[in-house]
Amino acid sequence: MKRKNEIFSCCLVFLIVGVTLGLFFHLHSRINREKLTPHIDPEQPMVALTFDDGPNPTYTPPLLDLLYRYQAPSTFFILGEKISSNRWLLQEMVCSGHELGNHTYSHTDLTTLTPQQIEYEIDKTKNALKKILPNYTMLYVRPPYGHYNQLVEDTVEQPLILWDIDTMDWDSASVDTICEIVLTNIHDGDILVFHDNNPNLLKALERILPELQEQGFQFVTIRQLAEYRTIEQR
Ligand SMILES: [Zn+2]
Repeated sequence: MKRKNEIFSCCLVFLIVGVTLGLFFHLHSRINREKLTPHIDPEQPMVALTFDDGPNPTYTPPLLDLLYRYQAPSTFFILGEKISSNRWLLQEMVCSGHELGNHTYSHTDLTTLTPQQIEYEIDKTKNALKKILPNYTMLYVRPPYGHYNQLVEDTVEQPLILWDIDTMDWDSASVDTICEIVLTNIHDGDILVFHDNNPNLLKALERILPELQEQGFQFVTIRQLAEYRTIEQR
């Protein structure tokens, strides 16, 4: 009986070590993928894909794979409360050439807060990210729900970035609806908002990304878009 227990314990240890090593090498290989640095031609149309409310351990990894396949650097407006549990994903995003923006700590409507509470929401997110990526600075803030007022504008130091096209994926829009919204409204210089927390996102992007590429659109981050186009910053 004792011998059986020893064999069982040994197998268990090997299994745990094997799984841990496998996971480590898998994550390590994702982080070390070549950086997305597409050549940007200012004469050609460009759009910025943005993804809010993540990172999400279910939907963000396949999204990163898809963006990698289409060489589409994007901007992720992340929530502070999701930072500490998704450190590998955040490292992968930055190492891959994506941009991170501040979407507050707890997705609170900033127009309902005092200046001190607004600062707390923004700074707590910055500080959470500093623990994982000490050298990374988020340049932009996206207020939850796109809600802002004069007090929010006066209190937040970074530019507030909204969007030109709301894909409605947050409202359980179907894949067909998301595709139609994007493909019938897209213009050079547009900022699109998606959410990497829903199952329709990936299916829609699998149709949208090749179609936009076919039409000659380049995919850029908000910082890159601001270099080549005039974007509305509040
Ligand atoms: Zn949001």
